[in-house]
Amino acid sequence: MGLVERDQKVIWHPYTQMKTALPPVPIVRGEGAYLFAEDGTKYIDAVSSWWTNIHGHAHPHIAQKVADQLKQLEHVIFAGFTHPTAIELAERLLAILPDNQQKVFYSDNGSTAVEVAIKMCLQYWHNRGLKKNKILAFNNAYHGDTFGAMAVSGRSAFTAAFDSLLFEVEFIDLPNESNISNLKSYISNLKSQLACFIFEPLVQGSAGMIMYEAKYLNELMLHCRQEGVLTIDDEVFTGFGRTGKPFACNHVDEKPDIMCFSKGLTGGTMALGVTTCTKQIFEAFLSDDKLKTLFHGHSFTANPIACSSALASMDIFLEEHTNASIKRISEQHAAFADKIRDNPKLKNVRQTGTILALEWHTGSNTSYFSSLRDVLYRYFLDAGIILRPLGNVVYILPPYCISNADLEYIYSKIEQALVEIGD
Ligand SMILES: *Cc1c(COP(=O)(O)O)cnc(C)c1O
Repeated sequence: MGLVERDQKVIWHPYTQMKTALPPVPIVRGEGAYLFAEDGTKYIDAVSSWWTNIHGHAHPHIAQKVADQLKQLEHVIFAGFTHPTAIELAERLLAILPDNQQKVFYSDNGSTAVEVAIKMCLQYWHNRGLKKNKILAFNNAYHGDTFGAMAVSGRSAFTAAFDSLLFEVEFIDLPNESNISNLKSYISNLKSQLACFIFEPLVQGSAGMIMYEAKYLNELMLHCRQEGVLTIDDEVFTGFGRTGKPFACNHVDEKPDIMCFSKGLTGGTMALGVTTCTKQIFEAFLSDDKLKTLFHGHSFTANPIACSSALASMDIFLEEHTNASIKRISEQHAAFADKIRDNPKLKNVRQTGTILALEWHTGSNTSYFSSLRDVLYRYFLDAGIILRPLGNVVYILPPYCISNADLEYIYSKIEQALVEIGD
């Protein structure tokens, strides 16, 4: 039996309608921006394996550091014990974050990093004896798939089966010139009940790479601070260079109270989540009263292997050539965006740093809409490129090591698709 047959006997894949999905592509090896299938087919990983991979696959430096760590210490309970890799990662991460971030709380993935952030905020007010338990979030937000993270995400097809069980959240539109003052009054009116405001900074990834301006985010963050509403900056997707700066919050002057990381944190090598917070938040949990403890932890909290891959990824992230690559990709994207911006088959072309999104016209009926997505997905796969459109939005989000030649090849295939697909 081949890998696909064996897979189909025993595996249930994520976000996959198992009845109608195409058979999965069996990948047996990765190198740099490429993935290699069982039959030898080479693919360019233009979506960084679900946005996680930033330095390329099977990176030798990360592999070496992980191998060294495996021989030293694979895991240890993190309550009552600590280890050098977790300490060093916390030190080095805090050193590159806004200087108000003072403490690191480890978990397993982006969703758990968000769960921890939400619990920190709600218990912050609870510990201070205030009844502020409402959360503010953006329409169409995506913060993960566990229940708390789902609750602060926009209500959608993803959440429909669970909507009645999700806690109530106040949703607002993305800010712009015309609604910003209304949004601010809305926040002022609710401030006595609002525990926190959670947001994806600058880019709403899952919603379809929807982008908004840093200056309005800055205004909202400032307003929240003035009104006593904590801010949670979910950098799970945007962290580690995606938006052209190390973190998306580096595009704004305001500093968030809490930040969440995962995806690029380990270079896409291991599952790891991090929630960081200010001294003020941390201190609200210090007490002789045990009930004020943050009662949260996972078996694999601060797993040394995951922490070592994050440290190795950080080494590469801080090298000058990585910064140069981020700049190079951003410039290539911008030039290509200009070239195709007026194509009549495209409704919108938008870019933030290394993220380029092309929104296709969908025609009038929605069945065409969904088939367009599948047609485009298949088209690029056949051309040896992994692009996974979000509905009618095709986006390119490559590992930073991608070559100019591979970027040009992807752009040329997109131009060809613009000629051959759709009406
Ligand atoms: C992917 C994502 C998450 C969830 O991360 P997982 O590791 O998939 O649980 C949370 N927030 C944002 C902004 C994301 O893009």
